Amino acid sequence: MGIIQELDIQLANKIAAGEVVERPASVVKELVENAIDAGSTQITVKVTEAGLQTITVSDNGAGILEEDMPLAFGRHATSKINSDHDLFHIRTLGFRGEALASISAVSKVVMKSCADGKIGHQLSVAGGRMEQSLTRAKQGTEITVSDLFYNTPARLKYVKSLHTELGKITDMMNRFAMSHPKIRFTFYADDKMMLQTTGSGRLAEVMASIYGMKIARDLVEITGQTGDYEVTGLVAKPEHTRANRHYISLFINGRYIRNFMLTKAMMTAYHTLLPIGRYPIAALHIKMDPALVDVNVHPTKQEVRLSKEADLMALIEQLIKQALLGRSLIPQVDVKK
Ligand code: ADP
Ligand code: MG
Repeated sequence: MGIIQELDIQLANKIAAGEVVERPASVVKELVENAIDAGSTQITVKVTEAGLQTITVSDNGAGILEEDMPLAFGRHATSKINSDHDLFHIRTLGFRGEALASISAVSKVVMKSCADGKIGHQLSVAGGRMEQSLTRAKQGTEITVSDLFYNTPARLKYVKSLHTELGKITDMMNRFAMSHPKIRFTFYADDKMMLQTTGSGRLAEVMASIYGMKIARDLVEITGQTGDYEVTGLVAKPEHTRANRHYISLFINGRYIRNFMLTKAMMTAYHTLLPIGRYPIAALHIKMDPALVDVNVHPTKQEVRLSKEADLMALIEQLIKQALLGRSLIPQVDVKK
């Protein structure tokens, strides 16, 4: 008699949740990504106790069909890809089909959705049990996650102070707002409004609501392209610096990513304008053929692998230099003398 057996689905989901659901901000990330993928133009996020008590994300997107609602919580269940080809041409933020399965393994979830503008359905998931019923709902989806980590005490212990966790959620929301200026985002923490954008599509306006008018007035526009890449965005003049890289936001095809080499290219562009240990404030949108970027590197999808990374670095460096030069901020040496 062998001793190997397949794990119970609940247990398997809990294990997978360890990778995807690190903290309350991870839940906000996954739910907002789903709302964006659903084509929403308005997304509202409300958290209480830094998301440990409740996280509610509501959107006005495509909604989920009644028969799909339980499937959405299945492991590796997704409407976004269904072939090898799709995996290498990702145009959505999600595709792994594991967020809802993982989240519902470590919290209690209530999903309300309406996909036809008329009839709403509700599905509650807790401790592996599902209950579905009719409900009143507007077009779109509303998901409420409560008692996060109630059944994983070790993970709950690892969560930092409410202040730190709320800070992480706020960062996440700021990044979503900058990544999608056309979406109207509203974010409340314990009834306090933390962020509101208009959905006008203007990045400068979003950055003004995040960083304040003083910075917004001193942003320089970046725009340019090569065969493979198109780069647009705003960078602050070098007199506004910060003590860490945190104020640099890079988006590839609408996805916030972290990339050491691209950040380095930006720093090189500022050259001697930044004092040692100081970093610029910037938001850059990079558009490229999805086939040139591998987003399936890590479950959180914040690290990506790029083909022709050196070309992109050169383009970013050149565009920022040009933009700053246009404002004659980089001292030029006259070699003819
Ligand atoms: P993934 O986003 O990788 O597909 P998820 O577990 O996050 O996996 O979601 C599973 C599925 O549930 C999605 O593929 C989508 O069809 C559906 N879904 C989840 N959230 C929403 C939403 N807010 N609006 C519409 N559909 C949604
Ligand atoms: Mg998802």
